[in-house]
Amino acid sequence: MENKGKIGVTTENIFPVIKQFLYSDHEIFLRELVANAVDATQKMKALASSGDFKGELGELKVRIELDEKKKTLKVIDNGIGMTEEEVDKYINQIAFSSAGEFLEKYKDQIGSIIGHFGLGFYSAFMVAKKVTIETLSWKEGATPVIWSCDGSPEYTMKACKKADRGTVITLYLDDDSAEYAEKGRISSLLHKYCKFMPVPVVFGKKQEWKDGKNVETDEDNVINVIEPLWTRTPSDLKDEDYLKFYRALYPGEEDPMFHIHLNVDYPFTLTGILYFPKIKERMAIQKNKIQLYCNQMFVTDHVDNIVPDFLTLLHGVIDSPDIPLNVSRSYLQSDANVKKISTYITKKVADRLEDIFKTERQQLEEKWDNIKLFIEYGMLTEEKFCERALKFALLKNTDGKYFSLDEYKTAVEPQQTDKDKKVVMLYATDVEKQYAYIEQAKNMGYDVLLLDCELDSHYVNLLEQKMENVRFARVDSDSVTNLIPKEEAVKPEMSEDDSKALSDIFKAVLPEGNDYVVEAQNLGEEKAPVLITQSEFLRRYREMSVLGGGMNFYGQMPEAYNIIVNMQNPLIHKIWEAHKADGGSAEDFAKGSDLLKQVTDLALLGNGMLKGKALSDFISRSQKLLDNE
Ligand code: ADP
Repeated sequence: MENKGKIGVTTENIFPVIKQFLYSDHEIFLRELVANAVDATQKMKALASSGDFKGELGELKVRIELDEKKKTLKVIDNGIGMTEEEVDKYINQIAFSSAGEFLEKYKDQIGSIIGHFGLGFYSAFMVAKKVTIETLSWKEGATPVIWSCDGSPEYTMKACKKADRGTVITLYLDDDSAEYAEKGRISSLLHKYCKFMPVPVVFGKKQEWKDGKNVETDEDNVINVIEPLWTRTPSDLKDEDYLKFYRALYPGEEDPMFHIHLNVDYPFTLTGILYFPKIKERMAIQKNKIQLYCNQMFVTDHVDNIVPDFLTLLHGVIDSPDIPLNVSRSYLQSDANVKKISTYITKKVADRLEDIFKTERQQLEEKWDNIKLFIEYGMLTEEKFCERALKFALLKNTDGKYFSLDEYKTAVEPQQTDKDKKVVMLYATDVEKQYAYIEQAKNMGYDVLLLDCELDSHYVNLLEQKMENVRFARVDSDSVTNLIPKEEAVKPEMSEDDSKALSDIFKAVLPEGNDYVVEAQNLGEEKAPVLITQSEFLRRYREMSVLGGGMNFYGQMPEAYNIIVNMQNPLIHKIWEAHKADGGSAEDFAKGSDLLKQVTDLALLGNGMLKGKALSDFISRSQKLLDNE
């Protein structure tokens, strides 16, 4: 008995087409074949447990056998097998026609289609010039058959002598796919795709170190973990188990901060474990560390389009049969299931963080600096996450104390409410550089936050929108009295000409290359003569445009500083009187006034802006002034 037939594809010879299109993803053939074998095995298990099958199950497993010389690769299972009719139905008609349909449907966009769809059995032809299926069905009285196809759309099928239940798929590897005839290559593919499959996958025998060399033992080399951690019940697991699993997934990486065990079966099925890695700098962020599985079969580590961008910073595993894989990426984002899944994961992440905030506050504070970037990124990019995170996000002050947003507002409200009834939150971005300003603010009884993360200028804007009646001001953005104005500032009365003259004499001694706005203020006799500040507004925009990467208007502007001249300070008084008496030009006066240079340089020094020659001039001038004493 021998059957010959023509496979139901429309294109005369579809194999070269497939090979060309799917070039970059040839390797998935192995996953597809092992997945089929695993399926057939699990169906066998199900038949036995339902009582439909009463015979001997045997030791259920999938074996991969490679003959490096003959260049053949076999995938062997003792699952349900197929009858002749089934081979005809599933392989000849369905498998091939669905591949044909698939190509027909997506021929225009095949390049953009997620590279990991399952063409199933058919993908064997990406690497093989000939494929045979030897199979014996579990059904009583079934005849074993061998199906064979050499890559043309023609196949043969005849009875064979296979004695035991199950299926053997044999690939006669193509010359240009010789890489798959290497043990190392197959081994690494099995590790990549089959590491967590639910049935033992055996590749060769375990090796043992004996008498100075590696020798084969009698023991099967099982490459997979049958029951990976995410499939187990969370209540049975300890922190230690999660840590071990993480270390196995990402060898050599620093331990994670927290984990989340995901587990849902309605309205979609999803399990998984997500980890918060330590994130300190944007530069060090690694995306695409989450592995996506479908029923324990590895699919991809590109989960963008499936989870919101900020969640791609997490590590771990997601397993869901409900994520459609054979669709294009743009379609994926609009898929209803994918949307639900993404919402669910976001919610779970927020739940877990809120839970930690409520029950393990100490832990959250200890780890905050390492997860803060992740949370701020999430808040800035996901509205829903932001609403939740407003409850558990922490602020850290320059003394290293942590507060929730509400706690902080309550704490500073009495001292830091300005005349417009806004609570002003003062912050520093660099404790060293802004030391003098922080001290001045503290002396006024104010608290100063530390916001030194790259996203903070955006984050501050966001908090101003989300928190009621709150304004942020960097400690060095104005004189300490003006940071939180309690009443309308009393400006010294000055004519326009005088204002211009004051501006000119200071500009004459300030370093070139920046923009300066010189402003007279009455800050009190005992306060410093000159203050250098940067406008909160301009600085924030400048930082944000630098962060955004584009050289737009604000990014290109020179640095702009406000020079606040304290008219009530006795030294300023002296300089101003001397200038009036002098009567000459601002430039000439400035050149000759050591006092003017000295007070300006002191202010520059306090801001870390005095460098090089200017600094050495300052030192010798100071010496000279001291000598005169
Ligand atoms: P899919 O797995 O997506 O259904 P495939 O082309 O991989 O598509 O396989 C088509 C069908 O052939 C399967 O649904 C299954 O019924 C049958 N089949 C494939 N491989 C095996 C196997 N190793 N044992 C039993 N049946 C198999």
